[in-house]
Amino acid sequence: MKTRGLVVVLSGFSGAGKGTIMKHLLKQYEGLYHLSISATTRGKREGEEEGREYFFKTREEFDRMVSEDAFLEYATFNGNSYGTPKAYVEQLVSEGKDVILEIEVKGALQVREQFPDALLLFVTPPSAEALKERLLGRGTESEEVAMQRLAISSQEAQLMEQYDYLIVNDVLERAMEEVHNIIQSEHFRTSRNIESIERVREELQAFAE
Ligand code: 5GP
Repeated sequence: MKTRGLVVVLSGFSGAGKGTIMKHLLKQYEGLYHLSISATTRGKREGEEEGREYFFKTREEFDRMVSEDAFLEYATFNGNSYGTPKAYVEQLVSEGKDVILEIEVKGALQVREQFPDALLLFVTPPSAEALKERLLGRGTESEEVAMQRLAISSQEAQLMEQYDYLIVNDVLERAMEEVHNIIQSEHFRTSRNIESIERVREELQAFAE
């Protein structure tokens, strides 16, 4: 029984490890999940590649995509714009494939408006202290930027209940399996299987007649 592809949103505090969870998930279950690649005006970090982590855009290019209605959602995060290109997500879902969007909270809520049956997952570290340590230890940002990101996390925490599931990323492998299990279970939700329900009903009806 194959249901429609799911739009899965994975959000979480900066430094919560959602990027690492995604990387492991895509490797462990190769071909099962598809990652949406966002466009951003943020500068490229060391080790990042065009079209792999992001499509890096100038402000003008990004604004043009907004005016062309090319985004499923977009939002500003710490002074930079980030957006999910619409066409890729729509194509995958129509092909029955599960697509994962790793995006921040304002964008996640916009996705829910467009796809009311999107599955929203929120990743948190076990404690705020662990988050601070991870952010500072990552070394990709200055301490000032890390502290800004912590302040943003505090705001984002206000919206956590809007998500369907909470993943506590203590042990990476376990968190990854939890994400996988939730997504797989979600396919069995009755509201996502209306066609199968109707078919079995009709078949039973035929016996009864
Ligand atoms: P970073 O600069 O650390 O790569 O990402 C900053 C934040 O922007 C993260 O929370 C990340 O999930 C989020 N983000 C990345 N792509 C998108 C997107 O397309 N839309 C939205 N709304 N947020 C995004």
